[in-house]
Amino acid sequence: MSKVYDVIVLGGGPAGLAAGIYAGRARLSTLIIEKGQDGGQIAITDEIENYPGQTIEGESGASLAARMAEQAAKFGAERASDVIKEVSLEGKIKTLTGSKGVYEGKTVIIATGAFPRPIGCDNEGKFVGKGISFCATCDAAFFEDFEVYVVGGGDSAVEEALYLTKFARKVTIIHRRDELRAAKSIQEKAFANDKIHFMWDTVVESVDGDGLLSSMVVRNKKNGERTTITADEEDGMFGLFGFIGYLPKSELFEGQIDLDGGYIVTDADMKTNVDGVFAAGDIRVKSLRQVVTAAADGAIAAVQAGKYIEDSE
Ligand code: NAP
Repeated sequence: MSKVYDVIVLGGGPAGLAAGIYAGRARLSTLIIEKGQDGGQIAITDEIENYPGQTIEGESGASLAARMAEQAAKFGAERASDVIKEVSLEGKIKTLTGSKGVYEGKTVIIATGAFPRPIGCDNEGKFVGKGISFCATCDAAFFEDFEVYVVGGGDSAVEEALYLTKFARKVTIIHRRDELRAAKSIQEKAFANDKIHFMWDTVVESVDGDGLLSSMVVRNKKNGERTTITADEEDGMFGLFGFIGYLPKSELFEGQIDLDGGYIVTDADMKTNVDGVFAAGDIRVKSLRQVVTAAADGAIAAVQAGKYIEDSE
């Protein structure tokens, strides 16, 4: 008979790993399932400088995640590397079916994350973390006095562009239409800001550079004209921030868990609408998606999973 874990954590990003640390430390038998590399979004983040206590100069997101994973292992959390294809969450024992095995748990903590929608230009993957970013809170400080471009026209794009003006010397919003979707109040602030410029009806077609992002080709959708933008010679690079929406990883749970716009709805204890099922991190409906909030969610979810087990035995 297969082992029934107290807690199965789905996802090895900061939320899942923090859940693993807290569940393991509470002596709950714990399994963390991750399909790829630990760290989720921070696995591709060059430097994390806003996680409290993380002051190791130049430490990458992958390295921080590796230390979290070590800590979870130290407290006894087991690991499985598998892609979960199907879940059955109702009932006392929850079942997760993957390509390599079937996993059973009394509780499940969903920490599958949400990922920024890619800009969709050629060569994009090569420059993520090397000029391309999807998080101004995380990376704006690296562009102090550089030029940056922001793709998108919604609230996120315009708010983040405003935030970026505190660091960059010039911020250009590249939008595929000739009017913004963002709230009027946010638009007004952007139009009144001398550092913010606009490229209307424009999409980014490709990016390039020698290691760091230093050129891109943009296309005007109305007249089809292509323009190559190159970095100022002294800078050697520029920033390109994508804010064209997020894609939560929640398809597996459709029809079983309450979702809002694809994000899992929880209460303040990370409980979903299904008993014994919790969600933590970016997959949740929440206002700030950061490592520190993901880790906090994971801790709360693990403690609540322990309480749920105690109360139901
Ligand atoms: P959003 O409102 O969906 O806006 C996405 C933007 O990206 C739109 O301007 C869209 O262009 C553009 N876009 C989408 N796909 C694209 C593509 N493939 N290529 C180029 N451009 C593309 O997303 P969001 O700004 O992340 O906001 C998400 C939700 O959070 C919204 O409900 C928003 O109101 C909310 N939010 C609120 C606040 C706040 O209240 N302060 C702050 C941030 C976010 P089109 O306009 O042409 O469709």
